[in-house]
Amino acid sequence: MQVFNFNAGPAMLPVEVMKRAQQEFLDYKGTGCGIFEHSHRASSFQNVLDTTNANIREVFGVPENYDIVYIQGGASMQFAMIPMNLMNTGAADFVDTGTWSSKAIKEAKLFGEARIAAQSKDDKYTYIPKFEDWKLTDDASYVHITSNNTIYGTQYASFPKTKNPLIADMSSDIMSRPVNVADFGMIYAGAQKNLGPSGLALVIIRKDLVERTPANIPTMLKYSTYTENNSLYNTPPTFGIYMIGLVMEWMKSVGGLVEIEKMNNAKAALLYDVIDNSDGYFRNPVQKDSRSKMNVVFRLPSEELEAKFLKMLGENGMIGLKGHRSVGGLRASIYNAMPLEGVEKLVSLMNDFRKNN
Ligand SMILES: *Cc1c(COP(=O)(O)O)cnc(C)c1O
Repeated sequence: MQVFNFNAGPAMLPVEVMKRAQQEFLDYKGTGCGIFEHSHRASSFQNVLDTTNANIREVFGVPENYDIVYIQGGASMQFAMIPMNLMNTGAADFVDTGTWSSKAIKEAKLFGEARIAAQSKDDKYTYIPKFEDWKLTDDASYVHITSNNTIYGTQYASFPKTKNPLIADMSSDIMSRPVNVADFGMIYAGAQKNLGPSGLALVIIRKDLVERTPANIPTMLKYSTYTENNSLYNTPPTFGIYMIGLVMEWMKSVGGLVEIEKMNNAKAALLYDVIDNSDGYFRNPVQKDSRSKMNVVFRLPSEELEAKFLKMLGENGMIGLKGHRSVGGLRASIYNAMPLEGVEKLVSLMNDFRKNN
């Protein structure tokens, strides 16, 4: 039976990517060893790194005045590195849309003032606050947002133009749709949702921001260490970068972000249609204009039915659908790599279950 993996992260990767990695695992391009066994200074790995960077630039439309680097420690390390490096006025604005935003705020408070410009905590994080209601401050070093809220199932449908640099944690929706990178000062993402294996963050940062870093920051926590050495100051996570490279090639092969967005829209529409046409049997708590196309959260009439449905899903090869422990219910994570067939099978099981229960 084919298994469809709906885990929130680490998440599934495209099967084409997994097969290619498997083919090359023991013998990368006739070298007789795997790419993760190559020196990070060897031309073979240099080539992987350069090609991956070039493909990210092309697929995501990253302008020349931005650097692309890979930093270990996932997105969570960035929660601390951002204020450490970039909070040069002693304060920054934050929009609190859930657990991950809150964690970013917690770290920023260690370095200065974390001002809450807007929040949706007042309604259990079920919406993205309207831009016109944000209370941004003139002397903030930057404005920090979480573009997709993996746990609560909300997502920015568009982005505001801000006076101070906009910094977005795009861990769970990076490269799921075209965005105008030039609207941001920095974009970062833990790799394990849309890009590759866990353990590193992709950081795209405007060059002038890198220059803000104070001198007394440890070398490995400075953005300039990564930008000045093309992510090769020390040994980078070579295998993770190689896998991101394969994912970029896959993205190009399916037509880039315009096509990927179409596929993601189609998958999300299938699921939300079934939820909305279930006479309240399936309930999505999120305001319609804030619904995530990556993480679709829903509840059934009782926790007993949720447990029963999860069991039935498991028996049908549908895994990873249990909602985050802090919100309960179910969550279907339908990142770029989830094929339409996986979502079609899920909605058909939802319809069957509803009829019989
Ligand atoms: C998964 C996730 C993180 C955490 O990423 P790590 O790599 O585990 O640190 C942060 N922000 C968002 C939005 C996420 O979805």
